[in-house]
Amino acid sequence: MSAADAVTDSLQNLRAQFAGVREGRPADYIPQLALADPDAFGLALVSMDGHRYSAGEAEVPFTLQSVSKPFIYALALSLLGLDEVSRWVGAEPSGEAFNAISLEPGTGRPANAMVNAGAIVTTALIPDAPGDDAFRRILHCLGRFAGRELDVDEEVFRSESVTGDRNRALAYLIRSTGTMPVDPVLAVDRYFRQCAIRVTALDLATMAATLAYGGVNPVTGEQVVSAEVAARVLAVMATCGMYDGSGDWLLRVGLPAKSGVSGGLIAVGPARFGVATYSPPLDSTGGSVRGHAALETMSRRYGLHLMLNPALPGSTVTLVTTADDLPSAPSAGHERVLHEQVGVVVAQGSIDFTAAERVLYALDESGPDGGPVVLDLHDVTSVDSVALAMLLTGLARLVNDGRRAAVVDPNGLLGAMELVRERTGQDLPRHATRVEAVEGSARALAGEG
Ligand code: GLN
Repeated sequence: MSAADAVTDSLQNLRAQFAGVREGRPADYIPQLALADPDAFGLALVSMDGHRYSAGEAEVPFTLQSVSKPFIYALALSLLGLDEVSRWVGAEPSGEAFNAISLEPGTGRPANAMVNAGAIVTTALIPDAPGDDAFRRILHCLGRFAGRELDVDEEVFRSESVTGDRNRALAYLIRSTGTMPVDPVLAVDRYFRQCAIRVTALDLATMAATLAYGGVNPVTGEQVVSAEVAARVLAVMATCGMYDGSGDWLLRVGLPAKSGVSGGLIAVGPARFGVATYSPPLDSTGGSVRGHAALETMSRRYGLHLMLNPALPGSTVTLVTTADDLPSAPSAGHERVLHEQVGVVVAQGSIDFTAAERVLYALDESGPDGGPVVLDLHDVTSVDSVALAMLLTGLARLVNDGRRAAVVDPNGLLGAMELVRERTGQDLPRHATRVEAVEGSARALAGEG
């Protein structure tokens, strides 16, 4: 038993809670899917550190079906860019079933890449490459998301091929509106193959975690798509991933998600985790009944709803004070009076846009008006590019207002600070320790610095 087994326990509890649900039936419009074991129920979760947790039938193979769609959309966005992809397929929730004739009046574009019409077009957009045909690229890309080589379930592929008249009809209809980039028969064949790629719930959780982790597979460390592409795919999953149930899903579960008719379901906690379930019986929208129930409960139980941010992540500013309050301050005399004039702001953690705003506000609040200020970044772990520009701009403004600003930056997080020099005509004093920085400011006040 290890401590992290507590995470496995929570998946097992969800499994136990919903394993007995008897509603729904496995899809049978693709005859091979009707053979699935209705009792199979697997859950898996992958963290941003690549830790993998699972319960139940998490290593039972099944076909991706529509869960392939967001990943192929990611591939298309990576290869062609958002503008080109958007010429062919939209990003509006259709509010309709997955197999609806969803074509925008006027342009004929399918509403989005999560419904079949849009997914068939998206698949058709993937170009052949020298020595690598489009399908091999698709298979390879999905494998990088999963962190292992995947293969096709030929029986499921054949089963959908011989019965897939509706998708074929959709493809012809799309061609008639002028928004089908390749031959419709070829497009549908490739799409059926993509739907028949075999995965497990653990694979799906890894794929979902890759989208959560800015396009980097947290298990293999490979950058599969850019962070920008991953964010866009999540946006479309959030609004369209659950078809005509997307609004209700976002309302209740609050996570970008994608369902498939073989019983797979993924959900993504951006920058937090990827989760997946497998259970073949489906509800009326073509989503897994048990998967839906388990993820809805999981979201509520663990407070995972995206729009729910009850607490700000850690506090950025740990101390706003004047130097006389520090343990290193002289106990009396002129020296102490000088220390009373020096404002001190201590920050910690990683600094992004929101955290930088807090630091800048604290700098304004610190110490007596116009007095020198020390910004201590000793416990700051990172400063992103947006926050860096904000901090430097803010520090330059202080200096231009006549305040003396010094930084404690032993790790050189503020870089060369050219921006400050450019805007103020001077360099900020930079120190290795807070005591040194305070002493420097006090000496400057005394006219010695
Ligand atoms: N291959 C299936 C189809 O096109 C995928 C549908 C789904 O999973 N929602 O009908």
